[in-house]
Amino acid sequence: MRYVIHYDIAAIVMLLLVLFLIYTRKGLNRASNFLFGFVVITELFCAVTDIISAYYISFPDRTTPWGLHFWSYFFLSAHNIVPLMLLFYVVCLTGIQKRLQWYKWFIFALPTVISLGLLATNFLHKGIFYFDENNVYTHGPLLSALYADAGLSLLIATIVLIRYRKALSKYKIAGAILCEILCVFPVVVQMFFPNLLIELFFQSIGLMGLLFSLENEDELINPITGAYNRFAFIRDVDRSIHARNRLSVITIKIFNISYYNSTFGVSFMNHVLRDMASWLKVAHKHAICYDFYGGHFALVFNSEDRAAAKELADRFRERFDSEWARDPISVVFPAQIGLLQVPDEVKTVDQLMLFIDMPTEETAGRSQLMGSDQIHYYQRSLLIEQKLSEALENNSLEIYYQPVWDRASRKVRSAEALVRLVDREIGVIMPEEFIPIAERNGSIMEVGAQVMEKVCSFYSENRLELHGIDHIAVNLSVLQCMNRYLPQMIQDILYKHNMLPQHITLEITESAAAGNKSAMEKTVRELAGSGYTLALDDYGTGYSNYSYMFAMPFKIIKIDKSILWSAMDTQNVRGQESSMVLLENTIRMLRQMQYRVVVEGVETKEQMVLLSGYGCDYMQGFFFSEPLPGPQFLHFADRFNSGDTVLFQPREDRRSAEIPQPQPAARNIVSF
Ligand code: C2E
Ligand code: CA
Ligand code: CA
Repeated sequence: MRYVIHYDIAAIVMLLLVLFLIYTRKGLNRASNFLFGFVVITELFCAVTDIISAYYISFPDRTTPWGLHFWSYFFLSAHNIVPLMLLFYVVCLTGIQKRLQWYKWFIFALPTVISLGLLATNFLHKGIFYFDENNVYTHGPLLSALYADAGLSLLIATIVLIRYRKALSKYKIAGAILCEILCVFPVVVQMFFPNLLIELFFQSIGLMGLLFSLENEDELINPITGAYNRFAFIRDVDRSIHARNRLSVITIKIFNISYYNSTFGVSFMNHVLRDMASWLKVAHKHAICYDFYGGHFALVFNSEDRAAAKELADRFRERFDSEWARDPISVVFPAQIGLLQVPDEVKTVDQLMLFIDMPTEETAGRSQLMGSDQIHYYQRSLLIEQKLSEALENNSLEIYYQPVWDRASRKVRSAEALVRLVDREIGVIMPEEFIPIAERNGSIMEVGAQVMEKVCSFYSENRLELHGIDHIAVNLSVLQCMNRYLPQMIQDILYKHNMLPQHITLEITESAAAGNKSAMEKTVRELAGSGYTLALDDYGTGYSNYSYMFAMPFKIIKIDKSILWSAMDTQNVRGQESSMVLLENTIRMLRQMQYRVVVEGVETKEQMVLLSGYGCDYMQGFFFSEPLPGPQFLHFADRFNSGDTVLFQPREDRRSAEIPQPQPAARNIVSF
């Protein structure tokens, strides 16, 4: 029989191209990448031996009987291994290889081992192939066993692909299945046309396809350091989590990389980052190094052994406390080293990313290991995030009202609405803890809407004006103010409850007003134009941009409690004197500018008397009342405004204490 070898030659050209492309790309050093390379080399070997054996089968007189057999053995053995290698490749792609017990590998390999055994003993039983008396190559009855083995490996590979489909994109699964079809289709054709050697040709098309789909990882590599990037991290770790692997993740975050970039120049820093990545890549034999840009790296490896991972993290800390040299400069880049165990400490990639994106804070110019307290802090923020989403879903955020005292009428005419997240298991969570989380995870608008809704329904249902309350102050976070739908959202809620804009004062913090000028300006002006009173909160804490601040339509300025407290701080005499001057003049200046002035954090009678002397318009603080749940606030306002001046016993030092729970009954009577 004359064989058509042109397809084999084309296969060799294609496989050489694939090999070249594999060789020239860098950084792909995972088991799956190695296996892919191995499959390509084996295929190349098959194509060469296929041509040689086809040649000798066609011209048996040009070789010895031994040579005749030799090439066929080689070809069939190599050809037989490929489906098994493809199966192993798929296993590695899905990330389950690390928790696959040895016997499962053995079961996967068993049919191929048997086939190879049959091949090795073929010269005895001649069951697979033999050369008849005319030296014609003839298939034996056992050849179908080789096909069955190959088919079985491909079948298992398909099952693995489908079972762990979440680990790969649909596009990649389709690519893998197409490659399998390209392996099977020519086998069927060759059954009918045995002289057409097209198997390897189709298979190399399949491998080429795999190279451009599954193996194309350009978008997953950081071009500066050649390490895997953020997308690769998310993909790999997600894959590992689905495969229920146990991982150790060590994060390395260089503090203040932008400072070093501007000091030493980007090209020097790129060299250093490359050195760091090269060092990290070999720091642990089985770890994969990821580079998130900006001097943030992570090392991921399979391990349950926290102590060993901690030892490695300690080594990193030491390394990052010593110099990285690139002639002529050598610099120390202190870093924050973190260690997390998956799934014991974190369970999802999102949680890991939150940890990785957590801002770093440098202390003492040295590298630090993330202590368990920071991890606890982080874990608590995860818990709060979860509680917050439950509270949003169940509409269960609670609003407390802190009375604001009006000096002119000596009555409580308004209150500040302060949100609380009350959870049955972990108790009361204060806004300073959960508002930043809501800002980060994008639920702040929902929080704001729920607060506004509750304030308005409280106001209208209880007809607060009958209790002497003419408005409620509601806090707005920076991000809320930057949202152009905010005015409409507030308007809709007010309309629903039959309320007017003058019933609501909106408090915006000073830093928010200073920091995000252009984005906020439009919203704030729109709100003022609709008739809401705007108050500038926490005045004196931030970087005051006065010209901007005075140009904005604020009517009320709320001086931050820290100014009052340092004016009363007898421990620091010099500071106290200056703060007192500052407080007095700030109040005077703002009032001259026609602002109404509120001072918050009034805790003692002494402070109240002092502020009254300075002409402060409104006061708010524990001296009058702590924030109270709605019904208690109404009770308080009724008694207070009826002249029955019942106040809580002012405690001397509450600054450091946690915000206390409101008390249901008055404990002392203070008159003034
Ligand atoms: P803020 O607007 O400066 O609110 C005043 C904070 O000072 C409140 O803390 C209040 O309980 C506390 N406070 C009032 N008087 C005294 C006092 O005499 N002594 C002491 N030690 N503290 C006093 P709270 O309720 O923990 O609120 C913290 C911050 O959370 C608020 O600061 C505000 O910026 C934010 N916040 C509260 N509710 C909301 C809300 O509904 N939306 C938004 N976006 N932020 C809110
Ligand atoms: Ca406020
Ligand atoms: Ca404030």
